[in-house]
Amino acid sequence: MVRGTCSRTGTREEGPQVRIILLGPPGAGKGTQAARITDAYGIPHISTGDILRANVREGTDLGTQAKRYMDAGELVPDEVIIGMVGDRLNEPDARTGFLFDGFPRTVPQADALEQLLVDRETPLTVALRLAVAKAEVVERLTGRRTCEQCGRIFHLTYDPPSVDGRCDDCDGELAQRDDDREDVVLNRLEVYAAQTEPLEHFYWERGLLRDVEATGSPDEVFASAQGILDGFHRSA
Ligand code: AMP
Repeated sequence: MVRGTCSRTGTREEGPQVRIILLGPPGAGKGTQAARITDAYGIPHISTGDILRANVREGTDLGTQAKRYMDAGELVPDEVIIGMVGDRLNEPDARTGFLFDGFPRTVPQADALEQLLVDRETPLTVALRLAVAKAEVVERLTGRRTCEQCGRIFHLTYDPPSVDGRCDDCDGELAQRDDDREDVVLNRLEVYAAQTEPLEHFYWERGLLRDVEATGSPDEVFASAQGILDGFHRSA
């Protein structure tokens, strides 16, 4: 299995580690906030979408299997995702702390994660839900451009690169993801409402759900997330 994009090292290695999942519809800013949170708390950023895209790029069996679902904005089957996440959690950097971005996406995935974490005696710290109005999501996603080399995300309107089409960090080429086309985005939102929204109840029932208002600037959203996470970080 190919592991995905940049693995970041944290700036706050001391102290207990947090185990986070990010919930919220496509376009809520999960990727942007995930990068900031994992930098600040020194935990690995595990994006199932990034791992799948890396496998597609490398032409692995997993990538070949996943591509047709991804191109249509459909979910990759649970058993594929759960196996992939189990392997990733066995890597040394993910033993005590992590942030999942884009996982779990279904109740069976959430059940499987819960079991994996019980087995490791490392329960989830918090499920952060990024809340954003649906109308804003389509504009955010269709303007999104991703660096093909390092995975950094830009937006043509809100966060444009200094040089058209090139990444500010590594000069890699910026591309629109196939699944950020408008027709696919609308399908992804329907899939989210049908399959992933029930997870909000799943984590609420367990007392783990916390809301982050996600309509402000990336800095404002991060400040809200940090307010919540620092409470757990201190008390963990
Ligand atoms: P993302 O980058 O998280 O928006 O994921 C892009 C695409 O990868 C999704 O539209 C799905 O096709 C697939 N994918 C990513 N994560 C999952 C998951 N946890 N379960 C099923 N499919 C996923």
